[in-house]
Amino acid sequence: MRYVSTRGTAAALDFREVTLAGLASDGGLYVPEAWPTLTRDEIAAMAGMSYVDTAVTVMAPFVGETMTRDELRALCEQAYGRFSHAAVTPLLQLDHDQWLLELFHGPTLAFKDVALQLLGLLFERFLTGSSDHLTIVGATSGDTGSAAIDAVAGRAGIDIFMLHPEGRVSDVQRRQMTTVGAPNVHNIAIRGDFDQAQALVKAMFNDPAFAGRFRLSAVNSINWARLMAQVVYYFYAAVRLGAPDRAIAFSVPTGNFGDVFAGYVAAKMGLPVAKLIVATNVNDILARALNSGDYSSRQVVQTPTPSMDIQVSSNFERLLFDLGHRDGLALAEQMRGFEGSRAMRLTNAQSEGAAALFAAERVDLDDMALAMRWAHEHACQMLDPHTAIALAAAQRHAGKTPMVTLATAHPAKFGDAVERATGTRPSLPSRVGDLFEREERYDVLDASYAAVSAYIAERAVAR
Ligand SMILES: *Cc1c(COP(=O)(O)O)cnc(C)c1O
Repeated sequence: MRYVSTRGTAAALDFREVTLAGLASDGGLYVPEAWPTLTRDEIAAMAGMSYVDTAVTVMAPFVGETMTRDELRALCEQAYGRFSHAAVTPLLQLDHDQWLLELFHGPTLAFKDVALQLLGLLFERFLTGSSDHLTIVGATSGDTGSAAIDAVAGRAGIDIFMLHPEGRVSDVQRRQMTTVGAPNVHNIAIRGDFDQAQALVKAMFNDPAFAGRFRLSAVNSINWARLMAQVVYYFYAAVRLGAPDRAIAFSVPTGNFGDVFAGYVAAKMGLPVAKLIVATNVNDILARALNSGDYSSRQVVQTPTPSMDIQVSSNFERLLFDLGHRDGLALAEQMRGFEGSRAMRLTNAQSEGAAALFAAERVDLDDMALAMRWAHEHACQMLDPHTAIALAAAQRHAGKTPMVTLATAHPAKFGDAVERATGTRPSLPSRVGDLFEREERYDVLDASYAAVSAYIAERAVAR
């Protein structure tokens, strides 16, 4: 399997290279050259499979020649052996047609673990026997940072530098990053907001002097391997609810469009997906884009769902590429327009292609709180605020098709917001251990390129 850039000019790469790389050199994102498909019989055969066997079946075509099936299985067993539920991503029934897919049973309590536990092992596997040393640089609004740090802490040949906006992540999120204690983990609190932290990271990748000295790598969802690992749970859930004989709908709390794009990939691979509901909070650029073709960025509003407080969804580019007849040069032009004016129109092909599979819903704070209370009172379930947004969107589309809401975080990760809506405080699961007793370690820096790049250059290992 080869991977091509959405902007048409960067060299095609294999799975190993694409995993280690991140952004393509032409500024685009990598996607498979063609979508592999699974036959109806192959999907039906997943009915009795474990999560790990499902993962191997779904991911093998993407991994191609870079690993044997047995090697891939061993990595999956190791990654998903760290989840606290035997089903890895269990399904829970909320009412007659509504289901929750719980994706938060990993070590850091959010769905990011599903992909990052595997990505950490892929990095290690692909670095073995090479003299490369990876320098991972990332910015986080909370969940990606903790999941990425847990996945690579203590691994040979890797350093991770994670920037978070000072004072703008929850206590649980910060402590999950800053109490790890491994010497290859470096936490930086930025005096600024998430967008400033993200801009600093982008600037490092785009600075030839800096990027030339270190082998930089990305762990946000521009990394293809992350999306690939997320395709698995769409199959796992749908097959349990009757696929391939019955089509299933999914509602996905969306920020960077990574999770819901994995659902699109599942549909491309042959899974009967009735609908993908893109649930946004009041930061509704995706809802506007999908409902009226207007992809224009506005000021970010802070909400109790920080992982969805986003006004530019990187992975949307992958969808636009696929729906725009995979014309990389045309898309590069379209994206340059967006980068200049922070606004663009979808083409007819993009709008019509999206409408065939996606629906988008904007959910405000009142509807989010209503969904939390409904789940608490009618199904005895506490929901985290991100999940509640997706459930509110799912309820607007209730019908005869089974509807699966993706539960992306454990409610205790956002305890304050849950308590405000329901009057009950969720308790932290025992697997987070003595999180509030452990010592924290991080440095605070100004949102200045000079300060942050110098800090990293002093501590990173040159190529
Ligand atoms: C990251 C995250 C999301 C958004 O996922 P995307 O792939 O960025 O769309 C939603 N909910 C939670 C809890 C998250 O951590």
